[in-house]
This record gives sequence, structure tokens and C-alpha cells, in this order.
Amino acid sequence: MKVTKVCCQGCGADLQIDESIRYVTCNYCHVQLEVVHDASVTHTRQLDKIERTSDQLASNLKVIALQNDLERLDREWDHLRGSLLSRDKNGNVSEPSLTAAIIGGSLFAGSGLFCIAAGAVQGSGALAFFGLIPILISIYLYIFETSKASDYQDLQQRYTSYRRKLTKRINDERVG
Ligand SMILES: [Zn+2]
Repeated sequence: MKVTKVCCQGCGADLQIDESIRYVTCNYCHVQLEVVHDASVTHTRQLDKIERTSDQLASNLKVIALQNDLERLDREWDHLRGSLLSRDKNGNVSEPSLTAAIIGGSLFAGSGLFCIAAGAVQGSGALAFFGLIPILISIYLYIFETSKASDYQDLQQRYTSYRRKLTKRINDERVG
């Protein structure tokens, strides 16, 4: 058995070790050491430091994976959102809005009812009949536009909460 003297990387103590042994524990500070034989010197390397570095690496990889998830989520939401936005004839885009659908629906319903009432007062069947058109539009707005708007709100909420969770996990991983 060839004994050699190395310095503990944990506490600096001189350690007498058997050269054939690769892993030792320092009796002074109880740190685990790897004995490294280079061409000219034998030295020690602290093992939990190596583990810490690989933990750090794993954590970095996790952050990268999470960031990729986040980017994909944003892309998918952008795509989905684009398909749900309403576009007017001037090319202006707007989110489907519950308030707008209800106000629009009420305005059409009001003018329809006004036409029907006016037609009844004047004894004009044609005027009363024309009143049906805004009524039909208001029914359409109430049923389809409001459900579109609430679907949109639903999706947006799910996207936002999932995004918040991902962002939190990325921050936790960075701190930890
Ligand atoms: Zn030591």
C-alpha cells in the first residue's frame, strides 16, 4: 500500500491516504472527496460540489424546457386568439365582448319593437314586418355572440392562469 498526502478541499487538513483508493471521507470535516491522480500531483475534489454543479445543470435544463413550453403556449394562444377576434370592414380587430353583444342585441331588439309598435299604431303591416328583422338580429347577437364572447373569456382565463403557473415554476427553478 502506497500512502500519499493530500489536502482536503473541505477544510484544508492534510490527509494520509492509500493511493489505490479513489473516494475518501475527511475525518475532520466529513466531506466526501474524490482522489484525483494527475501526472504530477495527487489532489482531492469535493464531491458534493460536483453534485451541486450537476443539480444546477439539471435545473438550467428544466428552465429551458419550461421556457420552451411558455413560448409554445404563447404561440398557440396567439394563433387561437387570431381566429377568434372579430374583424370589421375597416380591418380593425376586436375581442368578442359580452357587453358589446348585449348592448348591440338590446339596441336591435328596441328598434325592432319600436317598428312593430309603430306599425300597429299606424295599422301598417309592412312596418310591423320590418320590425322583425332587427328582432332576428338581436336574437342572433344574444345567442351566438354572447356564447362566443364567454367562450373567448374562458379560453383567455385558462391561458392566463396556465401562463402564470409556468412563469412561477420558471422563477422557482431559478431561485432554487
Ligand atoms: Zn476536511
